[in-house]
Amino acid sequence: MAEHLKLRDVSVHYGAFTAAHNVSLSLQAGEIGCLLGPSGCGKTTLLRAIGGFEPLSAGEISLQGSTISGVGNTLPPEQRQVGMVFQDFALFPHLDVGRNVAFGLSYMNRSQRAARVSDMLELVGLGQSGRAYPHELSGGQQQRVALARALAPKPRIVLLDEPFSGLDSELREQLAGEVRQLLQRNQMTALLVTHDQHEAFAMADQITLINGGTVVQSGTPDDLYHRPIDAFTAGFIGEGAVIAVQVNGDGTLDFGLGLLQAPVAAQYAGRSAGLLLRPTDIAYAAHSSVSLPVAARAFRGAQYLYQLQLPDGQLILCLAPVSTNVSVGGLLPVSCHLDALSLFEPS
Ligand code: ADP
Ligand code: MG
Repeated sequence: MAEHLKLRDVSVHYGAFTAAHNVSLSLQAGEIGCLLGPSGCGKTTLLRAIGGFEPLSAGEISLQGSTISGVGNTLPPEQRQVGMVFQDFALFPHLDVGRNVAFGLSYMNRSQRAARVSDMLELVGLGQSGRAYPHELSGGQQQRVALARALAPKPRIVLLDEPFSGLDSELREQLAGEVRQLLQRNQMTALLVTHDQHEAFAMADQITLINGGTVVQSGTPDDLYHRPIDAFTAGFIGEGAVIAVQVNGDGTLDFGLGLLQAPVAAQYAGRSAGLLLRPTDIAYAAHSSVSLPVAARAFRGAQYLYQLQLPDGQLILCLAPVSTNVSVGGLLPVSCHLDALSLFEPS
């Protein structure tokens, strides 16, 4: 199947500064992608390049098989049929909700326009709010209006730049899930930009992790969480600890929780490496022969997130039922359950 959106080796410079370097990614029609990465890594720059607001220094962007950006060749934003949703919603404060949604629909006649506005407001659950003004709505409702406005002209792709970061964290993940359903019901292709992995997980089929303007790893949320390519990805996605280990010549390794038999990538045999341990890899085991001292613990409702000290002093995390209730300084009996070993070059 042909790619709906494709970036091939895209670079964007601001003067001598390289904000994005050799970025490639592709989305199939109806897929939701995400550019995830720390603040300043180049996410907005890439989204603006797709929207037609930044020229490319190298590479090419195509939409539905035709080039929309190349070097010295930038199709103007208004000819791209791209919908944009921003962090601050960017609603027009002096227009009511209906007129905000109607904004991009001047090519329609009055009755078509009224019908589309009403459909869009129904779609985002604001069918009764067409006459309200933005300031009369909650943050979550305003963001839904912004989404309705972006979807109303039936764009070829929707670009969302940190659309939930103005909302409180409780609401963010929920709204991200709702927006995902809404986009899917409409078979929309979308690209989300966020620094928040929970938003990325709640919304995206495909995540492209960016650091310092370049792609670190692309894959499904499951790929990035369970098969991180390096220590940066392991540290950025999910909770966990990367500890220094010595891999034996036969490919087994021993780090104070017993011998791990899982076959290790041959490249690390007889060498030191970084090993990723997620909090769920270390389990409370009442009858284990290994008990580790609790260095710290955090209450997580049904569970404690324990920080445990290995015999060599390195710290690991363990998620265990609250009923374990071991205080700092006490001993927690544990065992290690690794489905797959994530090993990295030592830092
Ligand atoms: P993100 O959205 O991931 O936070 P941005 O794409 O906004 O990152 O910015 C990437 C880098 O480019 C940052 O170092 C930022 O300071 C720089 N930058 C962004 N816009 C401009 C600009 N118009 N001129 C010069 N530098 C810029
Ligand atoms: Mg940004």
